[in-house]
Amino acid sequence: MNFKPDLDKYPVFNIVSELSESHQQTFVVGGYVRDLILKRPSKDVDFVTVGSGIELATKVADKIKASNVQVFKNFGTAMIKSKGFEYEFVGARKESYNRDSRKPIVEDGTLEDDQNRRDFTINAMAISLNADNFGDLIDPFDGVKDLKRKVIRTPLDPDITFSDDPLRMMRAVRFASQLNFDIEPVTFEGIIKNAERIKIVSKERISDELNKIILSKKPSYGFKLLFHCGLLKLIFPEMVDLHGVETIDGKSHKDNFFHTLQVLDNVAENSNDLWLRWAAILHDIAKPPTKRFDPKIGWTFHGHEDKGARMVPNIFRELKLPLNEKMHYVKKLVRLHLRPIALVRDNITDTAIRRLLFEAGDDVEDLMALCRADITSKNDDKVKRYLSNFKKVEKKMREVEEKDQVRNFQPPVSGEEIMATFNLSPSRIIGEIKEEIKEAILEGKIPNDRTQALDYMHKVAQQKGVSQNIKK
Ligand code: ATP
Repeated sequence: MNFKPDLDKYPVFNIVSELSESHQQTFVVGGYVRDLILKRPSKDVDFVTVGSGIELATKVADKIKASNVQVFKNFGTAMIKSKGFEYEFVGARKESYNRDSRKPIVEDGTLEDDQNRRDFTINAMAISLNADNFGDLIDPFDGVKDLKRKVIRTPLDPDITFSDDPLRMMRAVRFASQLNFDIEPVTFEGIIKNAERIKIVSKERISDELNKIILSKKPSYGFKLLFHCGLLKLIFPEMVDLHGVETIDGKSHKDNFFHTLQVLDNVAENSNDLWLRWAAILHDIAKPPTKRFDPKIGWTFHGHEDKGARMVPNIFRELKLPLNEKMHYVKKLVRLHLRPIALVRDNITDTAIRRLLFEAGDDVEDLMALCRADITSKNDDKVKRYLSNFKKVEKKMREVEEKDQVRNFQPPVSGEEIMATFNLSPSRIIGEIKEEIKEAILEGKIPNDRTQALDYMHKVAQQKGVSQNIKK
């Protein structure tokens, strides 16, 4: 196979070829080659040269007038960013590992050594940039065949590959999930055997891969692979706790693991937002610890939404996910995920709608998307009924929002104003008055309007015995 016509489309490949001509052999390797064959456009190009990657990168940067060259001396690599592309240069290397670290001992090597150290056959292909065979594919492990068969396979013994660098197990699942490939059985066995070794990998690297799995088109597939090879239990045990069905008196609850995966896929069909996908993953996370059997009503999971929301920060901390507004967003969606369904069941009151709009704020559409995704019944009539009820709730939400504008509720009377009006110094009572005004608006006692809120403030203050402090 020859890729000269593809390489000729971008001048950089001929430039690299000319600059390496006189003294070193250079190749394009790894993901770029894989994606070229798969016709997935990629902007990350890795070059391997038998010699110094840094020297070659410096010459290339000069020639293409790229100002941005980053050199990582310790790793012997250099990166150039130019016109939306990232070019990484590395000297061909040979790697060996010791047991308690995924950091290899590195020596200079040949192209063959370099291909041997790659994780999967589909990632171990190279294209020559040398004048005598420019564009030729060098595919020692039949990567093209595996791309056609849609298979993830390690080039060497999987047991050694995964034991050397256990992150590769997460990468195997990630590529399978992103590309919708199988993991070849012997390779999968290797993961099962080495799963425990994931413990030597940093949580940040694990979560990077997990997030890529979550962002793939059908993330349930990646999670099922993680589950069956035993990795999920090690990296995210709370999720595995969702698995299983218990039966008492002939009554069974659903398998919350597979339900969660279905909800995740449903959300993924309509949104690429990583955090909405995380909310789907975590929405029922507290079902196991809240599960009870009541002989009269069967299985219950009372309070799982609140307990689940309280579990979110710890899970995020454990997985080294950010503890910022993204975490708060996920926590909020988990806490509120039953509310729209409750609204459907009760006769919808404006008060309940106002409260939900107030609590969900700008995330109300995402909340509704999660709730819709949460309907996984196999009974079509039931699904239709639920969805049409949600439409009613949404219509009502629009009406109430138009009238009362509580979605981005700003208190119509500020704490400073309350202090100034009643000549109070900062104290708890100010918060109480503010809270009562907010409650009155949400309950519909008064409209969300400043004049009425001020009147109401005086009324509340009087009840609390603070009106006599009014400034003369
Ligand atoms: P993507 O850009 O989608 O992450 P990629 O294959 O380009 O895919 P990178 O992480 O950029 O992934 O890695 C580039 C190449 O380096 C891979 O194609 C593979 O050949 C090699 N590689 C990366 N990580 C490892 C690893 N842990 N073990 C062995 N080879 C690896």
